[in-house]
Amino acid sequence: MASVLWFQGGACSGNTMSFLNAEEPSVCDLVTDFGLDVIWHPSLGVEFGNKAQQLFRDCASGKRPVDIFVYEGTVMLGPNGSGRYDMFADRPMKDWVIELANAAQFVVAIGDCACWGGIPATTPNPTDSVGLQYLKRDQGGFLGANWRSKGGLPVINIPGCPAHPDWITQIIVAIASGRLGDIALDELQRPQTFFKSFTQTGCTRVQFFEYKQSPPSFGQGTRTGCLFYEYGCRGPMTHSPCNRILWNRQSSKTRAGMPCTGCTEPEFPFYDLAPGTVFKTQKISGTIPKDIPTGTDPISYMALAAAARIAAPDWSKEDMFVV
Ligand code: SF4
Ligand code: SF4
Repeated sequence: MASVLWFQGGACSGNTMSFLNAEEPSVCDLVTDFGLDVIWHPSLGVEFGNKAQQLFRDCASGKRPVDIFVYEGTVMLGPNGSGRYDMFADRPMKDWVIELANAAQFVVAIGDCACWGGIPATTPNPTDSVGLQYLKRDQGGFLGANWRSKGGLPVINIPGCPAHPDWITQIIVAIASGRLGDIALDELQRPQTFFKSFTQTGCTRVQFFEYKQSPPSFGQGTRTGCLFYEYGCRGPMTHSPCNRILWNRQSSKTRAGMPCTGCTEPEFPFYDLAPGTVFKTQKISGTIPKDIPTGTDPISYMALAAAARIAAPDWSKEDMFVV
């Protein structure tokens, strides 16, 4: 029976909320079908006060073995490296994190904040927040680039703001059932099974992307037009399965008319949320998108876009999903 200990640092609890909504498998399935032993979780743990502290000390010392240490939220180093902006169970959270990460067989970072700092680490980063093994795209973070868990792996990063519930539970099941060897990690330590394809893979608007057609205005055309050209959609540059593994088994941002904001990439939030950069495609000379689809170059992109616009059929300018 694999054991899981889950801690929350500089976090909004969004990943916990997401985790509790999991369906394939659900949190109950993890316990009843996969025999997971949840040692403690901020929303599920029953110990508090001295009992909780003793439990955490037992986990850190190895008296209570921890197979999977899950961390949600940033590690706060401030002020002045003391970590005292985030006190937990009578000591800086960062002191618990280093001991528990070293005691566990595997460490999983859930959500952008734990992976690479996320929104709290956005300039000016007042809490000196870092991710477990990254600060934005720079390797290192709190544990250092060369850190490895007892099981021989770096931190497994499951980013997102929040991460999709099924990405979380499926990776926990893979570890708990000894199938972690089947899961390749990409260069940012994300499981490739989820993060090799793009948000655009499976998006229902791809045919409008092909012919360079936008919706008439933001929030209009929930079923027609592509959000890349005017509304800042990062679907062609963002590694996520959001249009393959749907949210609530129903939909995705782009299907609902909302641009992908690239929340599974270390640079999220892009442009540090400067005014005018959200839901608006940033352009050079007012025409060429600053960020173009991954794998292409500006000249090829411009040639393709010009040809696509000329070749666009009439139907691509209309709402075809009429009832
Ligand atoms: S809406 Fe976004 S994800 Fe969908 S096709 Fe357009 S750019 Fe790609
Ligand atoms: S669609 Fe984009 S912003 Fe939304 S959850 Fe997926 S990766 Fe994140």
